[in-house]
Amino acid sequence: MAYFSNGTEGMTYRERYCEKCIHLPDREDRDCPIWSAHFFHNYDRHKNEGVALILDMLIPRSADGLSNERCSFFQTRPAHLLAGKGLAP
Ligand code: SF4
Repeated sequence: MAYFSNGTEGMTYRERYCEKCIHLPDREDRDCPIWSAHFFHNYDRHKNEGVALILDMLIPRSADGLSNERCSFFQTRPAHLLAGKGLAP
């Protein structure tokens, strides 16, 4: 399960992966369901081991537990869609 110690760490992860991922909706009123699951069911908001196990599979913690690995569902947007968002491929 991803854990972000503050908002800046979370936004840095979004910039590094989500903004370049084909699963992040272009609509501002929608978000990636994997990101939303982590946002709404983080460590402070649940005690369900099954939920934690699923979240761990989606965005795993690093082996040393100090950071988050790349999301399991990350898939790079095609270059022409990255260019449309002003992002380098
Ligand atoms: S699938 Fe993963 S990397 Fe892609 S937008 Fe969702 S949380 Fe971010």
